[in-house]
Amino acid sequence: LTVMGEEGRTFSQEDGETLLALARQAAVAIDNAHMHRVIAKQALTDGLTGLSNHRAFQDQLRNEVERSQRFGLPLSLILLDLDEFKQVNDLHGHLAGDTVLRGVASVLRSAIREIDMAARYGGEEFAIVLPGTSAEGAVRLAERLRVAVAARPMGGGEGVPVACTASFGVAEMPGNAQTQVDLIAAADGALYAAKQGGRNRVIAAARNRAPRA
Ligand code: GH3
Ligand code: MG
Ligand code: MG
Repeated sequence: LTVMGEEGRTFSQEDGETLLALARQAAVAIDNAHMHRVIAKQALTDGLTGLSNHRAFQDQLRNEVERSQRFGLPLSLILLDLDEFKQVNDLHGHLAGDTVLRGVASVLRSAIREIDMAARYGGEEFAIVLPGTSAEGAVRLAERLRVAVAARPMGGGEGVPVACTASFGVAEMPGNAQTQVDLIAAADGALYAAKQGGRNRVIAAARNRAPRA
């Protein structure tokens, strides 16, 4: 805080006290603004994994769906669900399960581009939003992620490595859907097919919903 006065005038003790009071108020305002930013970020972040949470996922997907529609660019969505994860908890405990979830999150985070978004959709389900990427590219990424998750035993409790696989469903706009809800439903349907097909695999949504002319 810099204070300037007329030439020849010196600041009094009282001036100093007034300034101090002002500075204290400014400090409180800055603290509040900082706290507000921290809380706003927390509201969009998953506490366990540090990924975007479900709300942030829906918000960003809404933006990306609009952008995809406006500019006619493809948009892909990957949904993945860990396989037999209940068994991981049952065999190794929930703390080890949490460690696996964090490990999967870090695999996802390190594999995606700056403009992509990885989110924790729910319990042991994750979502990846890929702006400008077609289903073909998204399937390639999902396959890479599938291999990376399966190949890397995550450190469980007391350093016990816990192996875990995941099933993936992939859908794209405009090939499989025209709306946000339909895009999620298409990826979810593909994920369900991956589970039905035996897990630890990537399935792309069938191109049964052709883009409107
Ligand atoms: P599937 O291959 O069909 O997906 O089987 P699954 O066992 O993964 O599926 P299910 O939905 O039966 O189990 C999901 C499990 O994920 C159950 C739940 O306890 C666990 N889970 C969800 N969130 C968390 C979490 O934050 N931490 C831990 N440790 N476990 C979680
Ligand atoms: Mg699940
Ligand atoms: Mg599961």
